[in-house]
Amino acid sequence: MMKTQREEADRDSSCVGGQNWEPAVKLVLFDLGNTLESNGVLLPGAMEALEAVASLRAGGRPAALLGLVSDFEMPRQPSDVPIIQQRYYELLDDLGIRPFFEPLAERVTLSTEVGVFKPDEAIFRAATSKVDPTLEFDDVLFVTENPSHVLAARSLGLSAVHLRGPGQPLGEVETLPDLVPLMQAFVQGEELVQTVVLDAPDANSTAMITNRSAAMDATWTRLGDVLVVRATATLAGQILAHREMADSARRLFIPKQRLHVVTQIARLFQEDHPDVRVVVDKGRYLVVDLDPGMPSLVDGPHASCYAVRPLPPDTVVFDHRAARPRHTTAPVEEVGLLAGELSRMAFEEDLGTLARLPTRHSTSAQFLGALDWASDRLTDLGYATHIQTVAVHGGTTRNLIADRPGEGTDRNVVLVSAHLDSVNTRGAAAAAPGADDNASGSAGVLAIGQALADRTRRHDLRLILFGGEEQGLFGSRHYVSGLDAAERARISAVVNMDMIACRNTGNSTVLLEGASVSQAVIEKLVGIAQAHTSLAVQTSLEPFNSDHVPFIDLGIPAVLTIEGTDSANDRVHTERDTLDTLDIDLALEILRMNLLFVAQALDSDIHSPTDQLKENLR
Ligand SMILES: [Zn+2]
Repeated sequence: MMKTQREEADRDSSCVGGQNWEPAVKLVLFDLGNTLESNGVLLPGAMEALEAVASLRAGGRPAALLGLVSDFEMPRQPSDVPIIQQRYYELLDDLGIRPFFEPLAERVTLSTEVGVFKPDEAIFRAATSKVDPTLEFDDVLFVTENPSHVLAARSLGLSAVHLRGPGQPLGEVETLPDLVPLMQAFVQGEELVQTVVLDAPDANSTAMITNRSAAMDATWTRLGDVLVVRATATLAGQILAHREMADSARRLFIPKQRLHVVTQIARLFQEDHPDVRVVVDKGRYLVVDLDPGMPSLVDGPHASCYAVRPLPPDTVVFDHRAARPRHTTAPVEEVGLLAGELSRMAFEEDLGTLARLPTRHSTSAQFLGALDWASDRLTDLGYATHIQTVAVHGGTTRNLIADRPGEGTDRNVVLVSAHLDSVNTRGAAAAAPGADDNASGSAGVLAIGQALADRTRRHDLRLILFGGEEQGLFGSRHYVSGLDAAERARISAVVNMDMIACRNTGNSTVLLEGASVSQAVIEKLVGIAQAHTSLAVQTSLEPFNSDHVPFIDLGIPAVLTIEGTDSANDRVHTERDTLDTLDIDLALEILRMNLLFVAQALDSDIHSPTDQLKENLR
C-alpha cells in the first residue's frame, strides 16, 4: 500500500526543519560479492543498474542513496580495521564503482567494523544509521543473491529482494537491470508489487486468493493448475506464510506490463525467441517476461503459429476438468432420443466422402463439388440453403448456409459451423485430404443437421460450412461482415467445430475455446460434457485462428470445440491428415456434447455472459 501523503509530510518536516518539502531519503543497500561482482569482475548489468538508480530523481534531488553492506575480513585487533577497509575500497576502485558509494565512510558498512556478519541486525542497523540516523528499516531496500539473508532482512522490517546470483537457477529478480523498475517503485514510496507463481494450489487456497483479490488490491490469472498472483509485498507475504502454498510458490519481481501469455503453438515461440524468459510453462501456453516494446513480439519465422498478449488479470486462461462418469440417473428422455439420432455410420460415410477427395482447397473444383454435395444433403433434410460467394486471394470460394426456422416468437439464432476447405502447406496442387482438419467438423455439422431435422424448435437453427478458412478465415469474416446489428444480436451462440477427431491425449479430451463473451456457452458445454459424455474438458479464453474468432471480435458468444491438445497433431495441413488417423469415438463424444447443447439452446434462453459470471463467482 502506498504511504499516505500525511505520513510522508510528517516525516519530511521532522527531518528538514524550515523547508516545506523534501523528498524522502531512501536507501538501497547492495551486497557486493556475487551480487554486483564475482571474482573481482563486475557482473553483467551492474554498472547500468547502479547508474539508473543513482539517476532517479525526486523533487530535483537524488531519490535514493546507494550503500554497500558486506561480510569481509574480521580484524585481529581494532587498529587493523582501517587497513582492511582500505583494501575493500581499492576493490571498489578496481571495479570502477567507487563513485556511486561516496562518501565511503557513510555508505559502506563492513562486518570488519561492526564485529558481526550478516544477517545480524547490528550490521543492518549500522549501515542504515551511518547514512542517516533518522532512517528506519522500512526505508531500506536490501539487494543480495543470498536467499536466507533476504528472509532475515525481511523479518527485521527491511524490504529485500533476491537477485539471481551466478550459478543459481532462480531468483526473484533475474538480472541487475531488472532491479531498476523495482527500485523506482521503492523510492516513490510504492509498496513493491510482486508476482507469486503458485504451482497446483489446493482448492481452498485458490478460492482464498481469487475471492479476496479485489479487496486485497491483487490480481490473478489461472492457467490450468498454476495460479499467477500479482500482489503487494504484504499479501505476497501472507500467501507465502501459508504452509500449503509456500511449498509450491515462487516469488518474482517483474513489472506488470512485462508479463505476457503465449498461446497456441508456444514451442514455436520458444524456437523463435530462445532468450525470452519463461515464467510459467504449460505446454500450449506460456507466461513470459517480455519487454512490451519488443518488436519481435510479432515477428519470427513461426509468428503465425502463436499469439502473444499481455497477461489478462482475473482470468482463467485455460482450465482442465477431468472426465466424470456419466450420470447414473436416467437421462431425460430427450437426451437419449437425441443421442440416438447421431448415426455413427452416417458420420463415417460423410467423413469418407470428404476426405477421399484429393483436395478441398478453397478455390478448387473439388471444393465446389463438396459444397454442392453438402447443400443437396441439407436440402433433402428440409433445410433452406443458400450460397455466398467469397473473394479469396484473387480467386473465389463459397460459404454454404442452411436454415431451419423455429416456431417461437422473439426468436434467436443458434449457429453451428465448420470450415469445409482443406489445405496442404506445400501448395494448392499437393494432396490435402484434411480428414481431421476439417472433414471431421464438416461431417459433424451434417450429423447435427440430421439429428435436429425432424423437430421444429423455438429458435432458429443455422448451419454453415465456410470456405477460405485456411487462407485466413475469409469465409467467416465475409459472413459476419454481412450481418446487420439486429442479425448479430439475434445470434445467441455459435458452436464451431474444427478438428474433432484426433486423439492427442491419453483420455478423450475436448478443448473449448472462446473469450469472456463466450463464458456462458462454455459453462453449459462443460456441464453437458460432464453429465452426458466421458470427455475430459480443457477450456481456454484465448481464441485463436479458427472461424469462431470473427464472431467473438463482434461480441457474439462463439466457442470452438476442438480435440484436446490440438497443437500436438502434426499431420494437419499435410497429405498425412488421413482417415486412418481418426478416432471416431472421440468425434462422436464431441458431437454428442454439441448436439445436446444446441438442442437445449434452441428451446431455452441462454444466460447473458454477465449473469453467468455472477453465478460462477458464487
Ligand atoms: Zn481447420
